[in-house]
Amino acid sequence: MKKLWYTVAMSKLMNIQQFQTNLSQWYAAFGRDLPWRHTHDPYAIWVSEIMLQQTQVDTVKNYYIRFLETLPDIRSLADADEDLVFKLWEGLGYYRRVRHMQEAARQMMSDYNGIFPDTYDEIIKLKGIGAYTASAISSIAFGREKGVVDGNTLRILSRIYNLQDNIAQDKTKKAFQILMDELIRGTDPSIFNQAMMDLGAGICTPRKPDCEHCPVQDFCEARATGTEGLLPVNIKNTSKTDLYYITAILKKEDKYFLVKNKEGLLENLYAFVQYEVESPVSFEETFYENYGMSVRLYEYCKEIKHVFSHRIWHMNVYIGEISDTSVPLDYEDCFYTEDELSELPISTAHRKVYALR
Ligand code: SF4
Repeated sequence: MKKLWYTVAMSKLMNIQQFQTNLSQWYAAFGRDLPWRHTHDPYAIWVSEIMLQQTQVDTVKNYYIRFLETLPDIRSLADADEDLVFKLWEGLGYYRRVRHMQEAARQMMSDYNGIFPDTYDEIIKLKGIGAYTASAISSIAFGREKGVVDGNTLRILSRIYNLQDNIAQDKTKKAFQILMDELIRGTDPSIFNQAMMDLGAGICTPRKPDCEHCPVQDFCEARATGTEGLLPVNIKNTSKTDLYYITAILKKEDKYFLVKNKEGLLENLYAFVQYEVESPVSFEETFYENYGMSVRLYEYCKEIKHVFSHRIWHMNVYIGEISDTSVPLDYEDCFYTEDELSELPISTAHRKVYALR
């Protein structure tokens, strides 16, 4: 099946060179001017691509500049204090990304003498780098003919070839990768991929594509047949898990009690204590079992809902106080003033909690 539609698709696109030319001329005139477009430094491209996963371009711009000013190269990231790295990422979400980046930087220090590897096959072996990011880095920084396959290119090519394949499925993505690698051949890979990204972001948008201004409209079968509004087919199985917590803003005098997550979704970020329990009394008991301190919750604030990719947190926020005069040695460092707290890396979900105090 893959081979069949791939062959059919290729035979439909009669003039790949013209497609490439239209695209690159349009990109020269209308491509977005973004901070990471002024460099071919693989480290900078890598930082931008990881940040852009799950995050809007406008949000990324300032984070990208600040990150590179503070940690300008592989070595500085590999050597950086973990709290600093997470602080630079604070608010971007999906914190596993930055933890993996630091691991990959250390990997490059030990395996490549601090020099970014320049082939797709080596890059994709680095921690946290998948096919899309490896394609982007190898094409933009090193001129490798490797097409990027993401929501934008899947949508554009589904429409160009009028394909009904479900782009949520891995087998479809693999087939599209073959197609993209064909389309990129013989042209400037950096420009081709970035032009496709921009075409998807500004012209061939998910809803109401601007076909009138599309540089490849003459190649587009969906436009010819009026099916562009129906494509791509993207049927996901998105069952999210709902988790219900009691989350407590706990104070002792003028300090807040936060702990650093040692694992899980928000590993390495600081958080208010929360448990999947059904009542404030259960929270108080569980807290005592875990920390050996008595706590009293005295005010309910509200429920905060925070949506992750595969789960939804319902955080019922309470305010409470730690009433014990003495604190176990292990937890003496877990109390922070407001000033200290503002310097800690804290997830967006728990920042929302903090705002309720
Ligand atoms: S003609 Fe329209 S549907 Fe086709 S690729 Fe261009 S913007 Fe997308």
